[in-house]
Amino acid sequence: MDLLNTLVDKGLRRESPTREEALAVLASSDEDLLDVVAAAGKVRRHWFGRRVKLNYLVNLKSGLCPEDCSYCSQRLGSRAEILKYTWLKPDQATAAAAAGVAGGAKRVCLVASGRGPTDRDVDRVSDTIRAIKDQDGSVEVCACLGLLSDGQAERLREAGADAYNHNLNTSEATYGDITTTHTYADRVDTVNKAHAAGLSACSGLIAGMGESDEDLVDVVFSLRELDPDSVPVNFLIPMEGTPLAGEWHLTPQRCLRILAMTRFVCPDAEVRIAGGREVHLRTMQPLALHLANSVFLGDYLTSEGQAGHADLEMIADAGFEVEGASEVTLPEHRASRRGGGCGTHEDCGGGCGTHEGSGGCGAQAGDGGAGHGGTGGCSSHAGGGVCAPAPAARAEGPRTDLVAVRRRGAGTDLAPNA
Ligand code: SF4
Repeated sequence: MDLLNTLVDKGLRRESPTREEALAVLASSDEDLLDVVAAAGKVRRHWFGRRVKLNYLVNLKSGLCPEDCSYCSQRLGSRAEILKYTWLKPDQATAAAAAGVAGGAKRVCLVASGRGPTDRDVDRVSDTIRAIKDQDGSVEVCACLGLLSDGQAERLREAGADAYNHNLNTSEATYGDITTTHTYADRVDTVNKAHAAGLSACSGLIAGMGESDEDLVDVVFSLRELDPDSVPVNFLIPMEGTPLAGEWHLTPQRCLRILAMTRFVCPDAEVRIAGGREVHLRTMQPLALHLANSVFLGDYLTSEGQAGHADLEMIADAGFEVEGASEVTLPEHRASRRGGGCGTHEDCGGGCGTHEGSGGCGAQAGDGGAGHGGTGGCSSHAGGGVCAPAPAARAEGPRTDLVAVRRRGAGTDLAPNA
């Protein structure tokens, strides 16, 4: 297909596709799907080889959020029966982080529910970041605490944070349909604050909330303009008790097209498959590794992922390698700008593009996050036990059987899944 040859050439040059080209990827047929994956896979391998970066979520504070993000199980008025707890202490968070690192993660993502941190919260998280870094200086730490006020990104950076996550989530045009308690512009502002403080920005999206192809292309082009180093792609987990509980629109093929489009538009960024991987990609997860170079290990914020060992086996079986602590994730032109910055922010030195656009928080999505226990398991069969008769060729329709609320790890007395 001429389109795919063009997209590969552009991806290798870091050149943006046109909107029409991005839309054509989303509109491609099932018959062409493997060709689309192969083409986007060439771009992925050019910038990231066969490496897969593992990230580990630590939910520092769960539930009880005053904001109303419709997709989020931690939102105001959520009836989802998730774990609810206030701030983990630094030693508890450090123990959770250590479990993820022992499982193969090189980045720990410290997430807290809420609109944004108070200065006291930034102190707390700074203590936790220092404790994690004291334990293992090679671990990357990303904070995801919601909307930042002036000076907070700088304080997190001083405490040792490497990155800050805040997702755009969806297009500017539809943002007001998803959340009313803050704006798309608020999210953009926080991503820009992270950039300006010299933190590596992480910002992504949630697919499956009823958006159009145009909305998906809009948000991914806005992300390209914001120029985050990492782009998490969440696939909505329609959690019972949230307003989007009935929004089961995604198929594995649709998820692969969304990841391919994201790779073509953000060719040299760390594209991370985030929440919803197990629920929506299902047996197609290994194919998605040809598009994304990063995944979360184990569980999500409020829902369970497949067993950590199943993640590792899948990566090995698919012919990929877990990225080691000493390997640099990003291509040289991106990695070398850290500590530096962008041309538009005087605090930072290096050379990312313009950051005029928009912003948003990431795994903060409270879970676009995925559920389900093992390779085919419920929460009591983390090792992959089969807990119900196998559904007969159930290609479409709500897969509520794959969603399990997290009941282990941070905030519980049970061992984490890592
Ligand atoms: S996404 Fe974040 S801000 Fe929105 S409801 Fe969930 S925890 Fe609160």
